[in-house]
Amino acid sequence: SLSIGIVGLPNVGKSTLFNALTKNDALAANYPFATIEPNVGVVGVPDARLGRLAEIFGSAKILPATVDFVDIAGIVRGASTGEGLGNKFLANIRESDAICQVIRVFDDPDVTHVDGGVEPSRDIETINTELILADLQTLEKAVPRLEKDAKRNAKDKASQEILQAAREAQEILDGGTSLYAAEGVDTSRLRELSLLTVKPFIYVFNLDTDELADEALRAKLQDLVAPAEAIFLDAKIEAELAELDEDEAQELLESMGQAESGLAQLARVGFDTLGLQTYLTAGPKEARAWTIRKGATAPEAAGVIHTDFQRGFIKAEVVSFDDLTEAGDMQAARAAGKVRIEGKDYVMADGDVVEFRFNV
Ligand code: GDP
Repeated sequence: SLSIGIVGLPNVGKSTLFNALTKNDALAANYPFATIEPNVGVVGVPDARLGRLAEIFGSAKILPATVDFVDIAGIVRGASTGEGLGNKFLANIRESDAICQVIRVFDDPDVTHVDGGVEPSRDIETINTELILADLQTLEKAVPRLEKDAKRNAKDKASQEILQAAREAQEILDGGTSLYAAEGVDTSRLRELSLLTVKPFIYVFNLDTDELADEALRAKLQDLVAPAEAIFLDAKIEAELAELDEDEAQELLESMGQAESGLAQLARVGFDTLGLQTYLTAGPKEARAWTIRKGATAPEAAGVIHTDFQRGFIKAEVVSFDDLTEAGDMQAARAAGKVRIEGKDYVMADGDVVEFRFNV
């Protein structure tokens, strides 16, 4: 499954946040088959539609879509020079589909900052620079080989284009811009190089509770990273929330004027950044959101439930969530002609409520 790697300088609150991510007992109970690795946290993507479906179908359980977060320790200023970024760090980050940087905003004299005082813009720059330098090293090693390839296969268009893309990437990185933020460079040609800065970025600002309500501060921080997404939370509060049951957690959030937890926001933004969407299934046992890429076809969607469903796919019975809730239940939706039979070329829409027919 797709995952988001969490990076950040030491003492910014990564472990605190990550502990909150992994203490998600409710989810752990509902996903007993998920392989739990020590550096992976699974977070449910809040989805109000599931509660409504559970009402309509009398479902006993609600299973949201999830996002995997991977704790990637080991980045400090100068990491890419000197001894270089650790192998484990590089392997972990290369496997991530997006990168989430935690940035310290909270001030606490008892918690030292590795680079002196608290300064979000400098920390963002530091991590950005390390990732850019790592990519430049990768390209520096690769370009002579790509040049040879291009010379040897002078008639092969692909070899020329890869070399061209690599040189363009070098230029952009030399200018201090990450490849994701740059426009016009075809990084799909450079996939084999596993570059780090091609990945989408999400920023998590770790604030003190009283700073959370400071709109001016939030706007300033958002400006630092725009157009990337920013999430504002207090990692210590997130860790507390993870220990509470649902009602208590809701009460604590309300007392702070927050509608939902920072982790819930992070899951939602992460899900979107990864280019994912959900379709829904419901019955007496469970109301559930399944994760698919945007643009997935009906058989591909069926394959997420079980590979046999994809192989033996016959058709899908589909009703949009809005049509279903407007009609009131499945029977009424059918009577209103809102339930469609779709074949193997159907491209799924977000919020489709689906039942698959298949051969086994
Ligand atoms: P890491 O090195 O990035 O993993 O940072 P940790 O999660 O270990 O946090 C470093 C220290 O900062 C710990 O003592 C945390 O309790 C503290 N800390 C983390 N988040 C916050 C926060 O939002 N506010 C305050 N005041 N302290 C925090």
